[in-house]
Amino acid sequence: MKNILLIYTGGTIGMIQKNNSLSPFNFDELKSALPEIQDCGSVVSHTKLSSPIDSSNMNIKQWVELANCIKENYKKYDGFVILHGSDTMAYTASMLSFMFENIDKSVILTGSQLPIGIKRTDAKENIITAIEIAGNSFVKEVCVYFEYQLYRGNRVVKVNADNFDAFQSPNYPVLAQAGVKIKYKKQYINTTSKLDLNVHLNISDDVSILKLFPSIKKETVSAILNSSSGIILETFGSGNATTQDWFIEELNRAIQNKKTIVNISQCLSGSVNQGHYQTSKLLKKVGVISGHDMTTEAALTKLMFLQGLKLNHSDIKQKIEANLRGEISI
Ligand code: ASP
Repeated sequence: MKNILLIYTGGTIGMIQKNNSLSPFNFDELKSALPEIQDCGSVVSHTKLSSPIDSSNMNIKQWVELANCIKENYKKYDGFVILHGSDTMAYTASMLSFMFENIDKSVILTGSQLPIGIKRTDAKENIITAIEIAGNSFVKEVCVYFEYQLYRGNRVVKVNADNFDAFQSPNYPVLAQAGVKIKYKKQYINTTSKLDLNVHLNISDDVSILKLFPSIKKETVSAILNSSSGIILETFGSGNATTQDWFIEELNRAIQNKKTIVNISQCLSGSVNQGHYQTSKLLKKVGVISGHDMTTEAALTKLMFLQGLKLNHSDIKQKIEANLRGEISI
């Protein structure tokens, strides 16, 4: 029998209706609503964040608490399942993938669109299958399991607020599909890790996202560029932006001041290709870094992680474009 640690962070999965809105309730109630946990082929122990939250309140403090919890229990358990709200699950999965270098166990995040107490809930299947995958010990990475699909954690995006299939992995294949059997796509999964685990707990919040739109004002661009040292620039199509002089000058000034600017496409699928169009050539020229096909969630958390390592500007640039945890296709 495998030993699995179930870590409850909050989210719809464990919520009840109070005063016309949903708020987190306690984990023991969740366990009694899901007796199947006691009889699922693994020994499942449980713990929780000091105060379970709606994942919209997720921040660095909880990421560090979560990472510490896994770190402290790493040798004791064969795998980990994190119950998490779906709203920021893609951010947490991406962040944990960077925090855990050389991981050789499964860390599976899951949640649900309907609370566990509701008859048509998707929570039961999600939790039971996530526990089975974690107990299998085959997948050695941080993943999201949701509605019959296992995804690489740093490749997912929440795409639907209503449907059970709330996630997609637009630029990387699913790792496994759960039907009568769980079919693993071995060629896409990280199944070995030869080096020792290294857990990174220093995360920087000195980051921002600048989403471009037609007619964006200079004041808006300048305020966001001034606000942080690391900026994700969400551009159009394959990495294109306005070529107006003031815009390029603002970017140039920020980069001269040692800020890191990463180009990520607003499109769900595909990749940034700086220089393909005239409208992205100047970005490359002033030193905007291509984020290739990373999701915004992966790029942002990667930048938070790299800045937390206190690397110099050129090392951050080099590592942004490198494949650290399978988050980028290069
Ligand atoms: N607002 C909830 C959360 O992210 C939604 C969910 O759990 O799916 O915590």
